[in-house]
Amino acid sequence: MPIVSLAGLLGQPDVTAFLRGIVARGRYGNAYLFTGPAGVGKGTAALAFARAALCDHVHGAAPAAATVTAADDGMSLFGGMGSAPAAPEPAAPAPDGPLLDDACGECPACRKSASLQHPDLKFLFPVSGVEAKLEETIGETLQGMRDDPLFVFQYDQAASVRLSLTRELQRELAFRPYEASRRVVIIRDCDRMREDQYSALLKSIEEPGASTLWVLTSSRLSRVPATIRSRCQTVKFAPLPETAVETVLQQYGKASGPLARTLAALAAGSLARAVALSREDAAGQARAALAMLEPVRARNQAGLWKAAQDATKFGRAGREALRRTIEFHQLWQRDLLSARYGDGSRPFVFAEREAEIRAEAARTDATEIRRRLMVLEEALRSIDGNITADLTLFSALARVGGAKLGEGAWPSHGTARWDY
Ligand SMILES: [Zn+2]
Repeated sequence: MPIVSLAGLLGQPDVTAFLRGIVARGRYGNAYLFTGPAGVGKGTAALAFARAALCDHVHGAAPAAATVTAADDGMSLFGGMGSAPAAPEPAAPAPDGPLLDDACGECPACRKSASLQHPDLKFLFPVSGVEAKLEETIGETLQGMRDDPLFVFQYDQAASVRLSLTRELQRELAFRPYEASRRVVIIRDCDRMREDQYSALLKSIEEPGASTLWVLTSSRLSRVPATIRSRCQTVKFAPLPETAVETVLQQYGKASGPLARTLAALAAGSLARAVALSREDAAGQARAALAMLEPVRARNQAGLWKAAQDATKFGRAGREALRRTIEFHQLWQRDLLSARYGDGSRPFVFAEREAEIRAEAARTDATEIRRRLMVLEEALRSIDGNITADLTLFSALARVGGAKLGEGAWPSHGTARWDY
């Protein structure tokens, strides 16, 4: 997770423009909620936004900057508070210097926030493990972020934003910021909190005249209470373009060539997911998954059954193998679609098997591909339920091959392909 400036954010032009606009005007809302899929840069953007808000050289960091409420989108001519004087929209650079819309990157404040050591930057995130080791765990995570520009937060089921930390924050909010004109509180994955933490938080967000800028992030918006959502301005992040993910993987030596493309496609616009996948033997997994195409095409059910059992034999890991196998087959079908209907501008995920893709695409039309995708999607949706992994994989791939094991129904709503 890189600590960059707003200008350095990857693949989110709308969000970047919006946040830079806020910084340029120096009119911050009380609270922002960054939402969107996991691993697309919400946390990175939150830190970049905080950095700009704390920068000594940015006009918005000056004490006189007006604060607007969530109801005000920051675009109107008048501050959100009824009796507050109208804050002039700076249309031109102020006489005492240029109007900045991003952290300068050089002032003492910028240097401190870049190393996550600015006293007015409060960064909370979910942690698991015993309370006694909390400081250690947090310290390790922060060090990981400083050392690794592609640091990925990964949580287990029980990870949460600890109560002790929100209490400590609450106490600190009673005091003025130490160095900057405002304090920035980032709560990463704020959906991992308890009910009473939200209520305490809500009171602080609503505090009139508070010099605190709140930035919450969540990829599971439905788990954030409506009371919190309504107090925040929502900033929506989109999945990253696959080409952007592919480029970053190559830049940082995580993967190269066709493998980088496969990982980017598999990650569906999530850089964090792609980075996590790069630590696995994705090429080997892809080969194993696509090897099942042979018994599928030959309608060799005995062969397919054996392959499905082999692929999923390791208990819990078996489910992950099942998920991954299905995802590779989805990408295979996508390549068929590109081969048959694409304009050639999009490279194949499995470029090294181009001849095979083109041959199969020539005899497979859109209706058939849609039917197969429907079967695969249904299998993916069933994974979190009480299923038998080998049987699910066998049945899905047998039906992809055309066996009539019962027709699936097109899912009526979207499926989260991962949730972590
Ligand atoms: Zn600065």
